Amino acid sequence: MTLFLAKLILVAGAVSWFVIRLPHQRRSRKTAVAKSERTTREKLLLTGSATGLGLIPLIYIVTGFPRFANYPFQPALAWLGLLVFLSSLWLFFRVHRELGRNWSDSLEVRQSHTLVTDGLYHYVRHPMYSAFFLWALAQALLLPNWFAGFAGFVGFGTLFFFRVGQEERLMLDTFGEQYRAYMRRTARIIPKIY
Ligand code: SAH
Repeated sequence: MTLFLAKLILVAGAVSWFVIRLPHQRRSRKTAVAKSERTTREKLLLTGSATGLGLIPLIYIVTGFPRFANYPFQPALAWLGLLVFLSSLWLFFRVHRELGRNWSDSLEVRQSHTLVTDGLYHYVRHPMYSAFFLWALAQALLLPNWFAGFAGFVGFGTLFFFRVGQEERLMLDTFGEQYRAYMRRTARIIPKIY
């Protein structure tokens, strides 16, 4: 494992994520929305997340900026990063299929929205956010740079902590007691723990 390969893995992972999401993104444009909470705050959070997981690591990979934050590359960490990114992609793939037409890149309720509680949703309420945290972890393991490596955690973590409560309120408004019961038996992103 070399630093060049580690950078390549991160880029390939991001491209794979994009490819996994593409058909769902297309279909979601054609799926009628009943209620939307795509507010300015949501758009800012999405931009922050894309900056941390996308733009900042890309600038580091292309230019090496910011060099002062570099630390020595450790191949073992990068191998671990590869495993973590692969498991994150596997989660993305499954979760997209399980959510189907209910998926949205923001907070929206579809006209024929159904509550998914099976598959990965049996274990946690937000498996897609678990997948994004794994991506952020892979980024930190692959890039030997305190700033670019941890930018994903900061960007996506901010989105997560500001969004998750609002998303659960939206699901409670829509599904009432069914979602309340679902909340009682599931954790948010780490089975049984959180
Ligand atoms: N937070 C979930 C879903 C992310 S996609 C996850 O991490 O896996 C975001 C959209 O999914 C939201 O607009 C919401 O309407 C919808 N959603 C969230 N949980 C859901 C569930 N259990 N069943 C169906 N739709 C859900």
